[in-house]
Amino acid sequence: MPRPPGSDGGERARIATGRPIGSRVDPSPKASAGAVAMPAIPGARPWSFNCDTWTVEPVSRKKHARRPADRFGTANAGKCREARPRAQGGLMRHRAWTFVSFRVLLLLLTLVVGRVLQPVPATAATQLLPDMRMAELTTIKADKTTIPGHRLLRYTAEIVNVGAGPVEAQGSRPDTSTQTMPVVQRIYDDAAGFTDVPSGTHMFWAGDGHNHWHLSDMEQGVLTPFSNGSQVGTSAKEGFHFADGSAFDLSLPSAPQTKRYTACGGKSCNIDALSVKEGISVGWGDIYASGVALQWIDITGVANGKYVLTVTADPNGYFEESDTTNNSASATIRITSTNVAVLSYSGGA
Ligand SMILES: [Zn+2]
Repeated sequence: MPRPPGSDGGERARIATGRPIGSRVDPSPKASAGAVAMPAIPGARPWSFNCDTWTVEPVSRKKHARRPADRFGTANAGKCREARPRAQGGLMRHRAWTFVSFRVLLLLLTLVVGRVLQPVPATAATQLLPDMRMAELTTIKADKTTIPGHRLLRYTAEIVNVGAGPVEAQGSRPDTSTQTMPVVQRIYDDAAGFTDVPSGTHMFWAGDGHNHWHLSDMEQGVLTPFSNGSQVGTSAKEGFHFADGSAFDLSLPSAPQTKRYTACGGKSCNIDALSVKEGISVGWGDIYASGVALQWIDITGVANGKYVLTVTADPNGYFEESDTTNNSASATIRITSTNVAVLSYSGGA
């Protein structure tokens, strides 16, 4: 409970003066002239007080602890001895309260100013996500010559980007003795900025006779019997060099009219590179032709019958896209001992 102002003044007076309240003090020459020298209070600021000029008021007069004595007359000088110590305690509380009030005011001011000066969140930039799709499959054929004794199902697949921004992969490694490069996806936005997002895939050098860095597992072909879903074969190719291989739909908004990601651009043909950039621009496609190395499914031993060949771009979902449900294209085929025939196509962009 806070004490009312001045309630402990008597006790303080006793402590301060070392004599009973109300006892008179022999006026010193200075006191008789109206000035009173107060005994020092341990820990208190030494001070002196002139009752003729100023009187001290209890702390309840919040604003001015001192005011001209002539408002009360010099008669107040006699009360000065008793009033002073009480007033001194009151003054200290007053100072404490002033200090607390000041701190509270400062805090409120800080809050208000902080509120006013709070950075206005900039209008969030919109990410220009790519949208990989698989173009309609073409050139589906059997190959009995590349690997003697094997029958290969070859096909041409093309990953196209029909999104709002490029699909861009940036691989990097600390030194040339590190064999692979973890890949981040660089996602651009409409405020000329970008965000790098870990992709989960990596780049590795060659692997299919090519002299360039490959992205791992960006396209996959799966062969399943038409009647049920158990796959009978998967594609052999694992590495893919993303590039603007052919124009797919340059009428798409923000589609560059010329290639931005080229075959050996972004240091992708430099075996000693520490960083490599590859990508597919909006409106462009990256073709994996049926004739390239490992672009096949080994169907040696697969029984004659009706099958579905499904090819999917980014089957593991390494890259962020605006739509991940449209990444596959398929063809229904009939495999015979002498031939592969396409019955229908579906799902292609
Ligand atoms: Zn390659």
